[in-house]
Amino acid sequence: MNCRHCQTPLSRVFLDLGHAPLSNAYLSEGDLDRAEMTYPLRLFVCDDCRLVQTQDHAAADEMFKADYAYFSSTSRSWLDHAARYCAMITERLALTPASFVVEVASNDGYLLRNFVESGIPCLGIEPTAGTANAAEELGIPVLREFFGEAMGKRLAAEGRGADLVIGNNVYAHVPDINDFTRGLAALVKPEGVITLEFPHLMRLIEHCQFDTTYHEHFSYLSLSVAKRIFESAGLRVFDVEELPTHGGSLRIYGCRARAGHAERPAVAAVLAEEEKRGLRETGPYDGFQRRAEQVKDDLLAFLLAARREGMSVAGYGAAAKGNTLLNFAGVKRDLLPFICDAAPAKQGRFMPGSHIPVLPPQALADRRPDYVLILPWNIADEVRAQLAPLAAHGTRFVTAVPGLSVI
Ligand SMILES: [Zn+2]
Repeated sequence: MNCRHCQTPLSRVFLDLGHAPLSNAYLSEGDLDRAEMTYPLRLFVCDDCRLVQTQDHAAADEMFKADYAYFSSTSRSWLDHAARYCAMITERLALTPASFVVEVASNDGYLLRNFVESGIPCLGIEPTAGTANAAEELGIPVLREFFGEAMGKRLAAEGRGADLVIGNNVYAHVPDINDFTRGLAALVKPEGVITLEFPHLMRLIEHCQFDTTYHEHFSYLSLSVAKRIFESAGLRVFDVEELPTHGGSLRIYGCRARAGHAERPAVAAVLAEEEKRGLRETGPYDGFQRRAEQVKDDLLAFLLAARREGMSVAGYGAAAKGNTLLNFAGVKRDLLPFICDAAPAKQGRFMPGSHIPVLPPQALADRRPDYVLILPWNIADEVRAQLAPLAAHGTRFVTAVPGLSVI
């Protein structure tokens, strides 16, 4: 297999989590009697450009057929994050009702609704029908297609070039990152701006966030790699912000190579930090597998000790991270009998691979386990606050990443 960006043959393994089912392939009771598809979940780092990427696998078609769709608007903190961004960027770029904003992967309109309210014309691009319908109900026009160079060129030819192109948590999820980036270059106006948000590989390595790996997450990006990919498509990065979302993300600001946007000092500062941490070398990549295995070993030791001592453990948060961790560690119902989640669409279903049942949060209050393993570590504080009444009865909270912690 060759690098998805620079075509260099890939040989350096960054992380090998064995075989795993697709992270959102939740099962119904009837599915439990059938065979389950699993695919290799292995990441390579390119020896030339240092793009970290998933091994090619046959799951690409299956992934987009999954009947479970994530609706961004169900998360209050995500809605707030989007609203703050819209207010900031509207002021920074002096957007008006004469401007045009395009969001790629516009989901259910969680972000573009803010531009509708401000009277700024916008367009969403979203291939998933359920979420696209929800966005249209908010008054957002949506193109139900996958984005790439052909679409970027088509929109520009139709006179729909964009003053602002937004891509939040989509850049790392596109299989052909070069084609996608050329699409951005075609779509953005000569003086327009592109902003993309994606998890920062530097933080993933620092905090051992190997459980953010799943098949749908093709690329794991540093600023230096993103900059290189932008430049290969006739774009450049002129500013960057570090965000706390998803355990540490970047928001990069891009424009056409010849646009007038002056480069801000933050770009050089983040690049220098990546260099200092060795992201251009091989050390941080070569040592990562061992660190992930340590997290797995410590979680298993905890669960086995709890069972030996007759203590009960339940999980909280039936999301992709939990699936990656539990499947890598081989945890099944004997060690973790159930996982609670607030999303009704997941309740009554079973986690892919581990087949652990997903129950409503009320089950925690009913059963009062001795420990609650919080799988989405990025919202652990929020979950602990919600579950404070359990703590009053002696329940303790456990997180596994970046290292085992019992509070
Ligand atoms: Zn490469």
